[in-house]
This record gives sequence, C-alpha cells and structure tokens, in this order.
Amino acid sequence: METKYIFVTGGVVSSLGKGIISSSLACLLKARGYRVTIQKFDPYINIDPGTLNPYEHGECYVTVDGHEADLDLGHYERFTDIQTTRANNITTGRIYQNVINKERHGDYLGKTVQIVPHITDEIKRNVKLLGNTGNFDFVITEIGGTVGDIESLPFIESVRQLKWELENDCVFIHLTYVPYIRAAKELKTKPTQHSVKALQEAGVQPDVLVLRTEKEIPAEMRRKIALFCNVAPDAVIQSVDAPSIYEVPVMMHRQHLDELVLKKAGIKIEGEPHMTPWLNFLDKMDKAEQTVTIGLVGKYVELQDAYKSIDESLFQAATYNNNRLKIKYIHSEKVTPETVGDMLSDLDGVIVAPGFGQRGIEGKFVALKWCREHDIPTFGICLGMQCMVIEFARDVLGLHDANSTEMNPSTPHNVIDLMEEQKTISNLGGTMRLGAYDCALTPGSKAATAYGKTLVSERHRHRFEFNSEYRSRFEEAGMKCVGENPATHLVEVVEIPSLRWFIGTQYHPEYSSTVLSPNPIFLSFIAAAIEYRDHRKQSDNI
Ligand code: GLN
Repeated sequence: METKYIFVTGGVVSSLGKGIISSSLACLLKARGYRVTIQKFDPYINIDPGTLNPYEHGECYVTVDGHEADLDLGHYERFTDIQTTRANNITTGRIYQNVINKERHGDYLGKTVQIVPHITDEIKRNVKLLGNTGNFDFVITEIGGTVGDIESLPFIESVRQLKWELENDCVFIHLTYVPYIRAAKELKTKPTQHSVKALQEAGVQPDVLVLRTEKEIPAEMRRKIALFCNVAPDAVIQSVDAPSIYEVPVMMHRQHLDELVLKKAGIKIEGEPHMTPWLNFLDKMDKAEQTVTIGLVGKYVELQDAYKSIDESLFQAATYNNNRLKIKYIHSEKVTPETVGDMLSDLDGVIVAPGFGQRGIEGKFVALKWCREHDIPTFGICLGMQCMVIEFARDVLGLHDANSTEMNPSTPHNVIDLMEEQKTISNLGGTMRLGAYDCALTPGSKAATAYGKTLVSERHRHRFEFNSEYRSRFEEAGMKCVGENPATHLVEVVEIPSLRWFIGTQYHPEYSSTVLSPNPIFLSFIAAAIEYRDHRKQSDNI
C-alpha cells in the first residue's frame, strides 16, 4: 500500500501528551499488523537536544545510531518496540542548517532563499524521508509546540501544503485541552474552539480531535465541539487522565481512534488489533499488590522528566516482577554522611543516575559507600557507574583523592579519564561516544546471568571511561570489570560479586527497555531489590 502520513498537532497548552497519543496510535496500528514509525519535528533552533540541559528539556534520549533525541522518541520505542534513528527527530535548527548549507553550495542558483518555499520544501522533504524508504505503511509525524506559536508556523504551513500533494494519504489529528473550572464546576470548550480556529486559519482542517481532560466530557459537549470545529461527531474523542500512560492505547481503541484513522486513510478495517501481550502487561500492573521501593539518587530529581527512561524501565521491570513501584527521588546534594542513613535505610534498592559535572557528585559517593557497606542492591548508570569506581578507589583502594578528570583534571588518581578519541574534540554538540556498541560479558558474572547471554548491545552517551591502568588493582580488591567492548576493551560493566547486587554500567540500558521487551538488567535489579525487601521482612519477624 501507499505510505499513509498522519500528522499530530497540539493546541491550547503544551505538555498535553502528543507523544503518548502518537505512541498509542502507533501501538494500535502495529497491533493490527501495519509497519509504523513515528517522527518528531521540534520547532527550536538547536540542531538536537543534546546540548540542552534537563531543566530546559527533560531527559535527552539516545537512539541506536547515536542521535541525541527528544524524549518523546523514548515513548515511541517503549510503546511500539520499533527502534528510531536520527531520521525520526528533526528540529528547525537542522532544517535551517541544511538549507543554509545548500545555499553556500550554490544549489539555489542565485535565487533569494526564503521560508516559503525553501524552508517549507526542506521540511516536506524530511517529513517524507522515512516514508520513501518503503519500509513503513504509516509515518506518524508529531509536530512539537503549540498551534499559533511563531516558531511552529513553517511546520504547519508545510503540512498544509503536503495535504495537496498527498491527497487522501494523510490524516490530521489535533490534540487540545478541555479545562475544568472548579469555581464554575464546568468543563470549558472555548480554548478548543479557538485552537482549532487557529489551525483552520493556517489552512489545516483536523480530521480527528483528541480532547485532553481531567473529567469525562459528556457526549452532548463533544457533539457541540464537533459542530463548531467542522469535525465528524464520532471523530471527537476524549483522553481522560489515566493512572498509567500504558492504558492510553486501550482507551484510544475503545473510542476507535485506530479505526477512525484507517477509515480516513481509505483502508478497509479488518478484525481487531492483536493486543494480548499488552493487555497481559496491564493485567500484571493491576494485580500487583506488593510494592518495591527504589531510591533514585541524582541532581535533577525535582524535574518530572529528567530521568524518564529510567523511571519507565524501573516501572516495567517492577510490573514483570509482579510488584508496584515506588521511586523515592533523592537529591544528591542533600546526601551527606549525617543524612545518608535516614535517606536510604527504608529502600529496597538504589539507582545512582547518569549526569555531568561536579554538582551533587560528593553526595553520590556518600550514598554509594553506604549502599556498599550495607549491601543494598545498587545500580550505577553511566556517571553512576563512574562514581562507583571513584568511591571504591577512595575507600577501598585507599586512593583518597581519586576522581574523574571531568571533575578534577589534575587528580593524581584519574580512575575515570577522558577517552583518547575525545581529547581533540572541542565542539560540544553530538560529539560524545553515542549510540549502540557491543559489550562482551564475563560468563558467570551477575551481569551475564541477568542477560542470560555474554554478548549484548546497549546505547551510550559519555566522554569519560574507566582507566584500564587501574584495572588489576580494582579486581584484586573485589570490584571486577565484567563487561568490555570487544574491539576497544573499554570497560562497560563493573560489579562487586561478593555483594547481593552491585553493578555499574557505562552504557544506558534504560534507553532500550520497552513494555513488551523490558531490559534484562533492570528485571534482575528489581528482582534483587524484592529479594532484599523480603529478606529484611523475614529477619524483622524473627
Ligand atoms: N559525565 C560522564 C561522561 O561524560 C557521564 C555521562 C553520563 O552519565 N551520561 O563520561
């Protein structure tokens, strides 16, 4: 079949969950047997979100091919199990960079280069790139930002033009907000009407409206919205706040979102989506009674989205282990030798988060020392793994001023050091060791047992590495290097085998954990945390 293009825009306010709606639709279409991909177009000027700090943009997600991407790509992968790549995330910055490069190259043959048609042509070319591979039946394009913003105008204009080029091969979904005004005890449709009007003024008529709301929207009110917005009454659907984002595909299916889209795209609707594995996951989620409590030590814990992929990986792993998950966010700047006992003692497991720079680092060492000495299941990811190494060097190897050269370039014991190939790099954007690399695991190690195999591939985002000159000293003292890159011998995994579960990974396993295929190392970590909890309970009862 011809590739069909679905565009998802948003109105009224940001953070309505366009990413979740796009992912849910993709999940349903995939469950109907279609080949689907989702791409995100972000209207900001940065070439990619790699240089943005988490206060600006939440977590930076990393694709297998090493693109530093918007965190919505994480949702896309978690909901669909389909890997994304560099081509799935475009920004205004990249569009302009391409156009300006072509201009410098002389490709425009002396013409004045303008937003219309040159920028819009470049946007349209990018929208169709994945579709043109022939690998997909559906390409869902999520347009970041809110309709009416100056910066999203060229994207909306491009989409308007595409409607003429693609004719019946495209569907427009617009997501808006229906607020509940407490004082008046009323839901209000006016912001939706205005937002659809803004979209129509730009020449785009939505086919489906998804209304985000805290309360059920009565059928009568939905009919009114349909009437005002020029949309078929059955194409106005609601997205009521759900206890878990993983329920949204089911909620959308109940209101026939997948069927509406198929119908609009001119595809015959046959049967039902095969959602059994997904429903089994939801069932496990509902039935879980006990709770496993994990402490997440990081410096961005006050931000909702800073550790999104870790949160979701933990949740998936807890669910598959038939437990509910409670995450206690622990600000690393607040962890001191005086506070650490109070902050960590009720936890079943501790994760030390990835990150950059000096702030909060000493608290991570304090937390790790406490976890190591109390034998709590502990998982260090990227900077968290590097902190495990530094803390061990200081406290067990007696190298008191051991550090990473990231934190102290003149440390006499650079147990974590800048990678050789990084030494000549001066640009910050897109220059880390990024994307998926192989890691060979030592047979019999806890890490290899967790994965059930000795060769894995995981994603990376770092400049610093374990300094192999110190390797034998660590191993003799009980911290083993149990994972390394087969080609470069870079240390990827460390563990202390004498402890319950004390593993650090230089890579980020959280980027590859999905609902239908949770990452084995998270499953193993949570299983160890549950075991530790039950062990403590038992000892309390004796
Ligand atoms: N700052 C460390 C490095 O660059 C760790 C990075 C991370 O945690 N993603 O190596």
